[in-house]
Amino acid sequence: MPQCVICHKCHHVLYKGRNLKPPDEIIHQHDGKCPNCGKKLSLLPIDVEIKPYK
Ligand SMILES: [Zn+2]
Repeated sequence: MPQCVICHKCHHVLYKGRNLKPPDEIIHQHDGKCPNCGKKLSLLPIDVEIKPYK
């Protein structure tokens, strides 16, 4: 199932793809922050939204 990871603050799409990736890996790829709004991303508390997309 395709996956979409979105910044919880600005809804910038951090990752969209066919492969499931662990959110921590996606966060790591962005140096731990949202490239759009600069929000520091962490898994706890949840700062990203993970949604299936069509
Ligand atoms: Zn953001």
